[in-house]
Amino acid sequence: MSPAMERKSTRQINVGSVAVGGGAPVSVQSMTITKTADVDGTLAQVYALAGAGADIVRITCNDVAAAQGLAEIVPRSPVPIVADIHFQYKLALAALEAGVHGLRLNPGNIRNEQHIKTVARAAGERGVPIRVGVNAGSLDKELLEKYGAPLPEALVESALREIRYLEDVDFTDIKISVKHSDVPSMIDSYRLLSERVDYPLHLGVTEAGPLPGGLIKSVAGIGTLLMEGIGDTIRFSLTADPVEEAKAGRQLLEYLGLRERRGLDLIACPSCGRAEVDVIGIAAEAQERLEAANLPIQVAVMGCVVNGPGEAREADIGIAAGRGKGHLFIKGQVVRVVPETDMVEALLEEARRLVEEGVDARLAAADSAAAADAAASAAELLEIQGDVNEATARRASVARIAREGRSGS
Ligand code: SF4
Repeated sequence: MSPAMERKSTRQINVGSVAVGGGAPVSVQSMTITKTADVDGTLAQVYALAGAGADIVRITCNDVAAAQGLAEIVPRSPVPIVADIHFQYKLALAALEAGVHGLRLNPGNIRNEQHIKTVARAAGERGVPIRVGVNAGSLDKELLEKYGAPLPEALVESALREIRYLEDVDFTDIKISVKHSDVPSMIDSYRLLSERVDYPLHLGVTEAGPLPGGLIKSVAGIGTLLMEGIGDTIRFSLTADPVEEAKAGRQLLEYLGLRERRGLDLIACPSCGRAEVDVIGIAAEAQERLEAANLPIQVAVMGCVVNGPGEAREADIGIAAGRGKGHLFIKGQVVRVVPETDMVEALLEEARRLVEEGVDARLAAADSAAAADAAASAAELLEIQGDVNEATARRASVARIAREGRSGS
């Protein structure tokens, strides 16, 4: 891990079986969008989220029926469940009774100090942590008036005030979020908060919106902070199927080297005039089929054999198009040549064998003529298309200019 990725040291809390902060792996959270009273529908979504990479799932507890639903959902859930509480502190007490592993309280809409302390005492008795979840959009009115806008200082003050209430009753099983829908403000809020407390932080850009904008905002905000070592658990708030949130959170951690890859990482060239195939279509088909096969490897789809195998030599396996052919390569070494129409099928088959047999075995089984075939295809393409840097033409041009310069002097 690079020095930039050293995690800021925070206290550790436990949300059920998942440790958060204090050097624990950064965890992924998501939230169900079903009615909580629909126990089977909500559980199905919890399982889908856990399957996509969510370590912790939040469920709204917005009425008595929801609290009753939680009592049935929690014991059957594969991951810890956090109850989301707004306005009614008694629903937090009901959620605790239902056995939830964590509570999220919004200081903007549960403001009565005694109510907050009552919840903290009840949570403390059960060893259940509380997230102080400040949101720019629902900031305490008094703070909004004081600062004139949901500034980072206002969000942090809201969180610190709530934490004081909790600490007053010796409750320190806390994590905090200060979410903002404006990315620079969100980043500044967390930076400020991280200087002031050592409680674990839950990162998120609130109301990030639909894809692709929501994804980009979340990656910008959460990714920036994670690279600074800030953040112990994350949530993408996307206006999309929540499975996409869980997947995106997991993938971000994998791409930043904060979580071991458990799924596919497909890299592909962006295509260009040199491409011999429909790179976009082939990459999409390969992604769909490889994801379905659930192979934890990095796979490259490259549009031409001139640059493909070299540029993607770090990938576990890849395919590069030649004229009417696909060149399969493992760690940059071409191992097989297949007709263009069989490219995706061959890639899938070789990827499966690579996972089963390992790199050395598959390199040993390489077709000895494949590398020569790839070199011939590359040479043919270069001859037809010109070399990438047009070096021959440039050399001639430089020589001509130099000659003209000499004769003019
Ligand atoms: S690999 Fe080939 S087709 Fe793809 S972008 Fe590079 S030069 Fe273009």
